Amino acid sequence: MKPSKKFDAIKFSSVIRIADTVRELERAGKKIIRLETGEPHVASPNAAIAAAEEALRSEKTHYGHSRGLPELRACVCEHHARVYGVSLDPNKHILITPGGKQALWYALASLVDDGDEILIGQPGWVTYDEIVKLVGGIPIPAPMDPAADFSLKAQPYLNAITSRTRAIVLNTPSNPTGRMISHSELEKLAAVCRERDIMLISDEIYDQIRFTDTPHVSALTYDQKLEHTILINGFSKTYAMTGWRLGYVLADQLFIDTMLKLQQNSITCPTVFAQYGALAALTAGASFVDATVRLYHDNRDFLLAEMSKVAAVRCIEPQGGLYAFIDVSRINPDSVSFAEDFLSQQYVSVVPGSAFGASGEGFIRICLATDKRNITEFVSRLRSYVTSKVASASKMR
Ligand code: PLP
Repeated sequence: MKPSKKFDAIKFSSVIRIADTVRELERAGKKIIRLETGEPHVASPNAAIAAAEEALRSEKTHYGHSRGLPELRACVCEHHARVYGVSLDPNKHILITPGGKQALWYALASLVDDGDEILIGQPGWVTYDEIVKLVGGIPIPAPMDPAADFSLKAQPYLNAITSRTRAIVLNTPSNPTGRMISHSELEKLAAVCRERDIMLISDEIYDQIRFTDTPHVSALTYDQKLEHTILINGFSKTYAMTGWRLGYVLADQLFIDTMLKLQQNSITCPTVFAQYGALAALTAGASFVDATVRLYHDNRDFLLAEMSKVAAVRCIEPQGGLYAFIDVSRINPDSVSFAEDFLSQQYVSVVPGSAFGASGEGFIRICLATDKRNITEFVSRLRSYVTSKVASASKMR
């Protein structure tokens, strides 16, 4: 017997593969500076932990509503009304899911017919291509311009549109580049989606993690009725709740109801006591978000200042999100071999840029949501690695 052919073209997650390798090295006694995974190093908000504990004690341990806890749905809708000025119905326009990743899966599964083309901004999160393939679609790269620091623009998407284009996947702030789309660029994308009947799947999971005055522009701004927009978000990144596995999707009722069929026939409902924790995070977590974003911001500023002193590497300036994307192509244009060598020589784990598509080749991604000492160590080890590579290259000449 063989597994289904559907999986032949599906790749394992390169980030998870690196993280697993690193765990094995750690088990063998190696001390690794871990910068590969996109997860905040801090504990989840106390209010979330207390609320989940209370929920467990008061027997919120049975199946819950398959759309998600009504109070949590209402709270997320109010949040979006307050921040982005949209009016959403908690009984129609939202589904709470076990993580943003699952939300994205539902969204694409609800939309894609075999052979549909889905345009994905590149460099882009590793999971997009694989989910598109799993649901029968064809991922088409829309490469952003490295000379413009991978600024998120509409044109690369517009260039890739064909009669088979079904959706555009936008991620702002971006994983891995940290770039954020502007009002004018998003307006162009929204207009073309309307004209050509294309869905804009907007992954805004990093919307609250920003480092400059540039505002986060939500896709909801240009499509308040959700006619051509599906929005993905969650609690993992903003509230350091990666292990709780909670996210959500906002969409037109027709699509939410389609996704509900998937949810009811797969997981039944998201974990109930965890949702009480998420509700507490959303209602009482503003100061937590301010404090953690300040930490990441400080790491980002330190990194940018230090990287500017290292000849031969260049760090793209992250406007938001959890990552820094660093051009190491002058040291080694093959990012996989760079990452492997850097890990074996300096014991620092990073993600090779090629994992985010061909246009990420020559770059590495590191996570900024870590203890400052790890960023300081990264800088110092990168500096000595670069110095040794430059010295051995000049000896060869
Ligand atoms: N979207 C992006 C761009 C991400 O980077 C991630 C996680 O790394 C997710 C969605 C999903 O996160 P989760 O499933 O933990 O909510």
